Amino acid sequence: MTFLIPPVARPGDCLHAVDTPALVLDLPGFERNLDRMQKFANAHHMALRPHGKAHKCPAVAHAQIARGAGGICCQKASEAAAFVAAGIGDVYVCNEVASPEKAGWLARLAAKATISTCVDDLRQVHWLGEAARRCGTRLTVLVEVDIGHGRCGVANHPDLLALARQITAWPELTFGGLQAYHGQMQHVRSRTERRRIATEAAKRASDFVHALREAGISCPKVTGGGTGSVEFDAVSGVYTELQAGSYAFMDADYGRDEWQGAALSFEPALFVFARVMSTAAGRHVVVDAGLKSFAMDSGLPVAAEADCGWTYAGISDEHGILKPVNGGQLPELGQTVRLIPGHVDPTFNLYDEIVGIREGRVECVWEISARGASR
Ligand SMILES: *Cc1c(COP(=O)(O)O)cnc(C)c1O
Repeated sequence: MTFLIPPVARPGDCLHAVDTPALVLDLPGFERNLDRMQKFANAHHMALRPHGKAHKCPAVAHAQIARGAGGICCQKASEAAAFVAAGIGDVYVCNEVASPEKAGWLARLAAKATISTCVDDLRQVHWLGEAARRCGTRLTVLVEVDIGHGRCGVANHPDLLALARQITAWPELTFGGLQAYHGQMQHVRSRTERRRIATEAAKRASDFVHALREAGISCPKVTGGGTGSVEFDAVSGVYTELQAGSYAFMDADYGRDEWQGAALSFEPALFVFARVMSTAAGRHVVVDAGLKSFAMDSGLPVAAEADCGWTYAGISDEHGILKPVNGGQLPELGQTVRLIPGHVDPTFNLYDEIVGIREGRVECVWEISARGASR
């Protein structure tokens, strides 16, 4: 049946020809976001290794690396495989593997690219060491430390030292330093509060580094930071590498963070195009993008134009309800609307491709190759 269904967009199309629902990237805004972050990292002598778990798209990773990123982060071994297959030469899985089999996938990938990952358990070190020995490859292994998030990572210095020593004991493994990420703080609304949490987190990370130093183990890098905290992480004196990801796109949830006075901020560049499919009700209209087009963990999508006269007020599987605000006009049947997703990461995972636009035209259609790669 696919012969009946054309692609969502083709390069050269005008915007009206983009089928819906579509995940659409405003290329000039996206490129400004990439440039801002890279310049900021350079100015602070920080390595930048953007997180790819949001976009899952090799073309985006290539654009980040072309601007100076040293490689990318991802979260899953299968995601790493998709990026390596697309020619990304340096991939860091900044998450623990859950089985010896997955350690094996990473060790095999290491024959084709520079692969690193992190651990918080001696058994993971063993899986990785054995796998690398079997494959005849090398892996760089960092230790994840808990700097306040309270999810993964070792919480005390003796556990860190035991892991670092164990990693060093394997000739196939290189101790890569510390994974120090605090996810919860990224979405704390108040900038003052984010600064306070980031400062405490950096202090904990710094204590871990000192514990290594006192034990005579050098710490090649400290990596972490997300879009909400990079401005603080970069000046902490602890981090050497930043791994923000959402900054390239932004979303409604990051839009609700307070950015007043921030050392750097970013613009929304990722939209879902939806089309009005029913106006029969009169008091509202219905668009063709619902729960299967937007992740809802961070709330409803919001209109890209603040003064458009309507709001996305209700959602079900394939439907979205637009209601007028302040006596505003609703769009007509067949009209396209632009929406900012609540949370970009799980929204990307709902689409096969990104439609890149510039000056009113489709410039490119990029495959989201690691879409669904959750293993
Ligand atoms: C998601 C994630 C990031 C990036 O966070 P953003 O908020 O998307 O910038 C960085 N590091 C780790 C470990 C993550 O899971």
